[in-house]
Amino acid sequence: MEIGKILLTENECYKYGQKIKPIGIVVHSTGAPNTELRRYIAPDDGIIGKNQYGNHWNQFRPNGRQVCVHGFIGTDKNGVIRAYQTLPWTMRGWHAGSGPKGSANDGYLSFEICEDTLNSKTYAVNTYNMAVDLCAYLKKLYPAIKYENIIGHNEAAAKGIASNHGDPEHWWRKFGLSMAQFRKDVKKKVEDNMADKTRFSDVPKSHWAYDEIENLAKKGIISGFSGTKLFKPNLPLSRQQAAKMIALSAGLVASNLIDLDKSNAYPNEYIIALERAGVIGGYSTDKGKEFRPLDNTKRAHLAKMVVLAFKLKKGSKVINFDDKTNEQDQEYIDILASLGIVDGYEENGKKLFKPYTDVTRAQAAKIIDLAMKIK
Ligand SMILES: [Zn+2]
Repeated sequence: MEIGKILLTENECYKYGQKIKPIGIVVHSTGAPNTELRRYIAPDDGIIGKNQYGNHWNQFRPNGRQVCVHGFIGTDKNGVIRAYQTLPWTMRGWHAGSGPKGSANDGYLSFEICEDTLNSKTYAVNTYNMAVDLCAYLKKLYPAIKYENIIGHNEAAAKGIASNHGDPEHWWRKFGLSMAQFRKDVKKKVEDNMADKTRFSDVPKSHWAYDEIENLAKKGIISGFSGTKLFKPNLPLSRQQAAKMIALSAGLVASNLIDLDKSNAYPNEYIIALERAGVIGGYSTDKGKEFRPLDNTKRAHLAKMVVLAFKLKKGSKVINFDDKTNEQDQEYIDILASLGIVDGYEENGKKLFKPYTDVTRAQAAKIIDLAMKIK
């Protein structure tokens, strides 16, 4: 998650600078109808906006009080809900006061959720969800934090380790939210974060084309093999697969003809779209032109399709391939190279493009994703 950071270094608590080893978290809400982070946090980082009244907490004793927390959740100057860190996580905060059994300040992290007028379910739920994210983040940072020690100020008071306050459940219960559910939601979030989020099991984050494959998969331009989590990055790409990827990524609209067989995994509409756009010409034969949809796509042919589909113009980079091909195919390869989309292979001191070897699925994904970004 994204957490802003403005430490309240002028606050007496910060200057006091005691340390803790976090074992729990106390969730607070401010008890005042003002969602703006700048009410409490200063100076302005350009995102939260400037506090015009000088009543923020980045001063020795705000409003004469000895009070400081590790973070806030509230709105920035544009009304966007954000989380901010305001004390080092291992610094002892002044947030819980004390009860008959001591003080949760000893060992508990703390944050305030800025309240609104307590009438908006949307604001309550959105800030609750961000609080879940923040606690999951802190739990990962400090595994010694126990779920049962993620408590509301009101619960800390009931345990005898905080002053007698009702936050945040006095607010949450209006909308069916509770600390008991909050702890479950934090646990689930931590588990979800740890779960393998890789889309394709054979394309781990370390794969050289991970970003490009992920980008195209997110846009629905590529998908894995049905019923599996496999992308098979090293398999060759058939010409009909290439046609589909290029038509979708370049936004070339297929035809509206109703007699096209769209039930086919690779309906002809993509091939027709490319032909109409002048991206493909096919192979000339005695009987006419053939597209040969099931053949593997050659690297030179993918280069041609990509240059034409995205209408790419020559860039500034110069790469001279040693394995030059015919003038026409070479022009397309050189355009891709000049834009930094391909750089070929280094072999025995030679720079090779290998124009008539099969392009792999991963190579095609990389080339097409980069071409989309240039376009
Ligand atoms: Zn509180």
